[in-house]
Amino acid sequence: MTDTRARMAVLVRADVAAHIRAGRLDDDIRRLLRVTTATIRDVRRQSGVGHRLARGFRPRSLEEAFWGSVRHLPDGHLLWVGDVTADGHPYVQVGKHLRSARLTAYRLAHGRAPHGPVLPWCGLGLCVDREHLLDRHARDVLAVALTALYGDTP
Ligand SMILES: [Zn+2]
Repeated sequence: MTDTRARMAVLVRADVAAHIRAGRLDDDIRRLLRVTTATIRDVRRQSGVGHRLARGFRPRSLEEAFWGSVRHLPDGHLLWVGDVTADGHPYVQVGKHLRSARLTAYRLAHGRAPHGPVLPWCGLGLCVDREHLLDRHARDVLAVALTALYGDTP
């Protein structure tokens, strides 16, 4: 097994465990994470949370809701598989509160609020990987650096 495949196998199990903690049902986990029933059963056995305890997505914290709504991809993206608004913005719900998934990812990664909107630069619109999201400040810094390197191109 290559390092990449071994690493993905670990990440997939971590994703399944996070979805289990957030209360997701086996059918939903299979659909959202594209894993087999055997994998889910295996991770449930290890985490001690049997499928009879699953009550559907009812996260107890924002962090639990976030990690219960993502899927690691082999090329380094963190795909949002949770809810999306009608105009395409990923969001997370804890109790009655709706939060932007990108904002949540940024806060979890940096421990502070971003400057301005947070957007993925990697080309995958639903990516919420901490390294793939930039706030306005980071985009401005990047723009200055790119202009210094390549000149002022439109
Ligand atoms: Zn990405």
